[in-house]
Amino acid sequence: MKLLLTLASAAALSAPTRLPALAADKQLKTIFENNRRWVREEVKKDKDYFNRMASGQSPQILWIGCSDSRVPANRIMGLDAGEVFVARNVANQVIGTDMSMMSVIQYAVNVLKVPHIVICGHYDCGGVKASMENVDHVPPLENWLRNIRDTYRLNRQELDRISDKDQRTRRLVELNTLEQAFAVFKTGVVQRRRVQTYGSDQEPYTQPRIHAVVFDPGTGELKELNVNWKQELDKLGPIYNLYAPETAEARAERLGDGGAAAAAPPPVEPAKKKGLWGRLRG
Ligand SMILES: [Zn+2]
Repeated sequence: MKLLLTLASAAALSAPTRLPALAADKQLKTIFENNRRWVREEVKKDKDYFNRMASGQSPQILWIGCSDSRVPANRIMGLDAGEVFVARNVANQVIGTDMSMMSVIQYAVNVLKVPHIVICGHYDCGGVKASMENVDHVPPLENWLRNIRDTYRLNRQELDRISDKDQRTRRLVELNTLEQAFAVFKTGVVQRRRVQTYGSDQEPYTQPRIHAVVFDPGTGELKELNVNWKQELDKLGPIYNLYAPETAEARAERLGDGGAAAAAPPPVEPAKKKGLWGRLRG
């Protein structure tokens, strides 16, 4: 009865048919029907929609999120196709030896030149919860979860003080998200672009800007984590900095405009006091 009611409601709203039909659909006909309906509806709203899609992409955001099916990037940000470049894996990890993630970041930063990178964790994350169990989830998953166990160790003092397990898990979700945002800052490709765009006439702010956010599947809310980036980057900088801001002379040479660029104040003046990463926050 419940199934019939669900299907009837879905039909009445003319929405794509959901799980009950999909589960029984051996050829997954449902998704192709949904696809044809979607194409019809988009063209009805905007006849040039797919012509525009065919002409290429220039997304403004690289989204790094969890594979969890409840966290669809475009949908929860209210953005359309073509607006978000997406990388997802279990518990939104940014690991320096993960060639897939590193390639995504490289392409997004160097080729698409995205001005924003959003790292999104989410409450009720199965990966984070699994990492809090003293259980072998067997490779390769257990190797992957080890990275989150390391984040727990780095923040053990704070986490162990939280007696409520759910609250402790939620906090680890946030700390894991922050740690992955720091990992984005650690990459050479991001540092290089930030040094290049620091004080640039071409860009309104240093790019890419990094945002650590958490999504709550239970409420639908997406919130930005409260981070003192300056303080955090000053701590990370001495260890992880790979690039120094270029001198005025080097900048002039690169831009091929000796007079004007060399006359501009060097972008590195406040460096010694504030620390490189603090100044590059943008
Ligand atoms: Zn998750």
